[in-house]
Amino acid sequence: MPHGPHGPLERVFSIEGLMPHGHCYLWDPWLVWMHALSDAFIFGAYTVIPILLVQIVRARKDLPFHWMLFCFGIFIIACGGTHLMEIVNLWYPYYWLAGMIKIITALASVSTAAVLYKIVPLAISYPRPDKLQALNSQLERKMYEITLSNKIGEHLQACLSSEEAFDVISHMAGEIFLGRPGALCIINSSRDIAAVQRRWEGVQHDDTFLLEDCRALRHGRPYSPDSGLVCKHITNKGASLCLPLVAHGEAVGIIYLDCTQQGVYSEIERAFLILLAEQMALFLANLKMREILRRQSTRDQLTDLYNRRYMEESLAREISRATRNNSVIATLMLDIDHFKKFNDENGHDAGDVILRQVSKLMSENFRASDVVCRYGGEEFVVLMPDATLEAAARKADRFREEVKKLSVVRNGVTLGPLSVSVGIAIFPEHARTSEALIRSADNALYRAKRDGRDRVCVFE
Ligand SMILES: [Zn+2]
Repeated sequence: MPHGPHGPLERVFSIEGLMPHGHCYLWDPWLVWMHALSDAFIFGAYTVIPILLVQIVRARKDLPFHWMLFCFGIFIIACGGTHLMEIVNLWYPYYWLAGMIKIITALASVSTAAVLYKIVPLAISYPRPDKLQALNSQLERKMYEITLSNKIGEHLQACLSSEEAFDVISHMAGEIFLGRPGALCIINSSRDIAAVQRRWEGVQHDDTFLLEDCRALRHGRPYSPDSGLVCKHITNKGASLCLPLVAHGEAVGIIYLDCTQQGVYSEIERAFLILLAEQMALFLANLKMREILRRQSTRDQLTDLYNRRYMEESLAREISRATRNNSVIATLMLDIDHFKKFNDENGHDAGDVILRQVSKLMSENFRASDVVCRYGGEEFVVLMPDATLEAAARKADRFREEVKKLSVVRNGVTLGPLSVSVGIAIFPEHARTSEALIRSADNALYRAKRDGRDRVCVFE
């Protein structure tokens, strides 16, 4: 029995009776240093690796591999320890200690293998970078679509008329339609033709076309002439896209896009354009509905002139404007002479025809800035902002002459001759409130009637 240490700790640090490893290398300096240096480098690297792993764990707390990285760090440190012992053992034969460190290394490596085994499926299922990239671009695309759609919605929401909405669409056309030239075409109220309302990027397209000439309108879905069948309304025979604008099941128009230069849209772009077209169509349909309602509430049904309520509101507005600007308003009150007699002799229908004809003539003869209104029965009021007494009287007299030339034929019978009497009052010269102004014009009209009709009288 060789004499030796008996306690376990003494045994670990015991080198009694053992020979340093250097003896195996016969103390050949090249061999000894080759082993010593390479083990030193390995030990150095194995010390740095866990530090780097700790940095990864601290920076990316979201990674699901923390345990694996932790085990791997211990395993690497233990490996470093065995290499350090290799160097020590060249000169000092602490073989028990080296053995103990090897046991720790073995345990760490087995644990790492076990953890790694569990993680493998998770690591494999982790999305590949190219897949992540694709998902990322999809997400970016969605964000772009939502942002653009919101932007269009916001601008269209703020529009008060269809004209404003057309402006918004043509203004944003470059962004929406990705630089393709195009035209916004809207179907008219009698639903037989569509008219170009706005063009962008110098597109070539006729001003109007028949609805049946567009295949997108016929089928109610987007149309590209890929089979060579080009819509009849298109003069350019290159690649194109007709996007119908359909809201509540009814088409309000189309957007024609010329893709000759920039090429056809991708599937993704096209799908997004279809969504945008639906969004725009809804806004356009709502605006049109609002305009119809507004028109109905401000217009006289029979003559389509403004109604009395609208005239009264306009007069109040014009008076405050004229007061502010020190300007004038000419107010004309007109009456068709002997209208009751026409009605009695020819029936109410004939009366309606005459009212419509005179109203049409009024719309044509007065300025767009004048408010021409049917005041009631066969009485009309015209507000002429900024018109002097002389200008208003001249205009009224010319209109009186025009009425006399009017020939209204109904059922082969000529109704007439027609004439009108006109009374004129001026703000602020004759009256300063709207009621007084209308009353003054009415007084002047009464005088014109009394003096024999078919004449223009000014308030005195
Ligand atoms: Zn078409």
